[in-house]
Amino acid sequence: MENKSTERVHNLIIGSGPAGYSAAIYAARANLKPLLYQGIQPGGQLTITTEVENYPGYPNGVQGPEMMVEFEKQAVRMGADIRFGLATKVDFSGQPFKVWIDDEKLIEADTVIIATGASAKWLGLESEQRLNGYGVSACAVCDGFFFKGKEVALTGGGDTAAEEALYLSKLCTTVHMFVRRDSMRASQVMQQRVKEAPNINLYWNTQVMEVIGDTHVEAVRVRNKISSTEQTIPVKGFFVAIGHEPNSAIFKDWLNMDETGYIQTVPGTSRTNIEGIFAAGDVQDRVYRQAVTAAGSGCMAALDAERYLALRPKID
Ligand code: NDP
Repeated sequence: MENKSTERVHNLIIGSGPAGYSAAIYAARANLKPLLYQGIQPGGQLTITTEVENYPGYPNGVQGPEMMVEFEKQAVRMGADIRFGLATKVDFSGQPFKVWIDDEKLIEADTVIIATGASAKWLGLESEQRLNGYGVSACAVCDGFFFKGKEVALTGGGDTAAEEALYLSKLCTTVHMFVRRDSMRASQVMQQRVKEAPNINLYWNTQVMEVIGDTHVEAVRVRNKISSTEQTIPVKGFFVAIGHEPNSAIFKDWLNMDETGYIQTVPGTSRTNIEGIFAAGDVQDRVYRQAVTAAGSGCMAALDAERYLALRPKID
């Protein structure tokens, strides 16, 4: 007998970044009646970014959160069923695929599109964990405001770090930016902006050893890797911007992944090692990781799901 909290759908989409919403738009237009669960961060990583200048169609740029509201509206207008909830467990052993939402509700689906994205990485220091939320943050846009008029520090050398340092430099008196090598990975234009900002102090070859403070951040202790000298810099906030890891843990028993957890897809498609399960966006892309590439791969996943449903033998 079917449990009341069990639902059967043709197409389940897990995740609500550009990949998930694009998949929903295409799947809805193809009449797959997609059901999309948004996860714990509706709109995904773009909701914690500032201005997006490189998404085609926005000649004057757009705020990340605003863009994701528009993606969602478009998916809803096309008929996608969008709900708040987190996929907590899956069973992909056979058709229909089973996905549990918030550990209670069971969704049975003919096809699943995984678009769960990626999350911020941490340094792994005990002090960083202890003071997380008490001055330690991985999101300048979310938390920078709390440090208005204060001195802060940040570590990382990619585009995210550059973007966050620039954001903080507009709010804070000084931003101490620690880069672990003698160069940054960020694009040239972002590096230039960081170097030109009068209140960003760049420290090369510098590693953060400890975040100091009992109840809130008071300073960071850093070490120069070349000279082995250490210094303690008083700051009120410490931001970690060292990249992301894919949100793929619940799928690890079923899907092929690389050594860092990115889901492997058949090149040129969104197909995983299980027929009927597709992956799109940052959870399967360690290389490009852009909103526009995520959106493109979401479209691919919906088209792949549509073809799969059209060609497979009918089971119902
Ligand atoms: P990246 O992986 O590009 O960069 C991570 C940075 O963190 C690197 O400088 C890396 O150093 C450093 N790092 C990693 N681990 C540590 C550690 N333990 N201690 C200190 N430093 C560490 O991640 P991003 O999040 O910056 O960017 C991801 C992708 O998103 C990129 O493709 C980027 O271009 C894109 N992006 C684009 C934006 C835009 O166009 N506006 C904005 C933000 C991101 P090392 O170089 O030594 O490995």
